[in-house]
Amino acid sequence: MDIHEYQAKEVLSGFGVTVPDGALAYSPEQAAYRASELGGERWVVKAQVHAGGRGKAGGVKVCKTDTEIYEACENMFGMKLVTHQTGPEGKGVYRVYVETAVLIANEIYLGFVLDRTTQRVMIVASAEGGMEIEEISADKPDSIVRAVVEPAVGLREFQCRQIAFKLGVEAALVPQMVRTMKGCYRAFTELDATMVEINPLVITEDHRVIALDAKMTFDDNALFRHPQIAELRDKSQEDPRESRAADRGLNYVGLDGNIGCIVNGAGLAMATMDTIKLAGGEPANFLDIGGGATPERVAKAFRLVLSDKKVQAILVNIFAGINRCDWVAEGVVQALKEVEVDVPVIVRLAGTNVEQGQKILARSGLPIIRAATLQEAAERAVGAWKNDLAQGVNMRAAL
Ligand code: ADP
Ligand code: MG
Repeated sequence: MDIHEYQAKEVLSGFGVTVPDGALAYSPEQAAYRASELGGERWVVKAQVHAGGRGKAGGVKVCKTDTEIYEACENMFGMKLVTHQTGPEGKGVYRVYVETAVLIANEIYLGFVLDRTTQRVMIVASAEGGMEIEEISADKPDSIVRAVVEPAVGLREFQCRQIAFKLGVEAALVPQMVRTMKGCYRAFTELDATMVEINPLVITEDHRVIALDAKMTFDDNALFRHPQIAELRDKSQEDPRESRAADRGLNYVGLDGNIGCIVNGAGLAMATMDTIKLAGGEPANFLDIGGGATPERVAKAFRLVLSDKKVQAILVNIFAGINRCDWVAEGVVQALKEVEVDVPVIVRLAGTNVEQGQKILARSGLPIIRAATLQEAAERAVGAWKNDLAQGVNMRAAL
């Protein structure tokens, strides 16, 4: 789960990271009022969306007067901010953060990520802050400093000092750098984050180390341990298909193709997507309905997959171990009776109670296309999408 910049700043400041003064606003009037409360002469109005690259896309504006704040907000509110991280649809702006403008002498990149190779938290830093890390690694790869944290002892101060010196930070500011890094690391581990990124971490003209931007991502599976973090979820920033799935306890990832997939098990779901591509199609989603799928759950999965209007065929691929093919078959039949399904449905069942499952499908009288193997199922799905669709298959008409 991602959170907004203003939320990440509040979380990190609780761990000793210095951030500028700022306040949240839901309207231009409120933003101007927030600026007057903050005081000072220059403010930065920042669109709150779950994506970076806002500066270049018009989501960060320096303002000197009420009128400028008002205008900046009028442009941001309600807009779909498209940055290189949002995808072409962009993300809606419903909140802005008004922050005291800081005089910047130097911008640093500081990130904490889980490194799968070393299975450790890794610190990635660069003196070329302000640019996105992808750009830094393409343009200035030599500027990147990395350090791995040994979990048994945690992040040591000497490591932080080493990083600060490699970044060329002047000695007098090293203690502030150490405090920032240790704070981020504690926030990362104590809150089960998977990513903490401060870009830029700035050195101000008056020699302070301040986090001007902050991004945090949390492990969804650990959110139950951190209700105060779970509360920060903002559904307006999520793919609506994925939030609906999460609310229903299904593992779903929306993709751009048009063959919907309903599969049990993440590995089988990946294999199903690969096989669809091999057969010349494009999967519309990844969906793992999990073990012990009841008919209700299968029906929910159907509704979810069909809520994506791009879907032009559905492939159900079940390898029943804990699952039961008869339950899944009942779920398919129930879903097809309840939900308006006007695309071809291809079902491949294998494993526990497969004969009963096949019988249920056959007896239903529904025009379900059956397949014995995954390859056959994928080929039929691609074929059905290409041919049968042209003739207009209508499941309900067949009832
Ligand atoms: P994004 O990464 O989404 O583009 P940032 O918060 O990093 O957004 O802001 C982009 C740039 O705007 C920063 O690199 C910094 O130069 C400038 N900026 C952001 N916040 C402030 C601030 N409070 N004071 C001065 N400059 C700022
Ligand atoms: Mg940034």
